Amino acid sequence: MANKLQVEAIKTGTVIDHIPAGQGIKILKQLHLVDLKEKITVGFNLPSKDLELKDLIKVENRLFTEAEANQLSLFAPSATINVIENYVVKSKFNMSIPEVVEAVFDCPNSNCISHTEPVNSYFTVKQKANDVQMKCKYCEKSFSKDIVAGI
Ligand SMILES: [Zn+2]
Repeated sequence: MANKLQVEAIKTGTVIDHIPAGQGIKILKQLHLVDLKEKITVGFNLPSKDLELKDLIKVENRLFTEAEANQLSLFAPSATINVIENYVVKSKFNMSIPEVVEAVFDCPNSNCISHTEPVNSYFTVKQKANDVQMKCKYCEKSFSKDIVAGI
């Protein structure tokens, strides 16, 4: 119950919970959540049972799709996503690293044709030991996800 008091309930929207502390601000930037012009409530460094501290993001009037949830998993694989309608959790996504990330990030290679041609950026994703590698479909170069995301 004490945990519930930290965040006001929302009628409709998406709650991203259990984000490792410090990742919340990256997620806000990388998924351009602020650009949605919907009401967003964030909590940073909240106490949690499983993690030392966690971040939490609530986006009102926006129901995340599974594809969006998977993009988010690049930054916070342990986060949980609750899609809420009429104060009830309608779906919960168990995230997995996506195989493909399309039209989200620009290719870090400035010579890549994706910058001059009218195409969406397109990366295939490979999980390595301690990193996630993203390979551009157009220039076929591989980059660490942090480089692609500009972190
Ligand atoms: Zn490229």
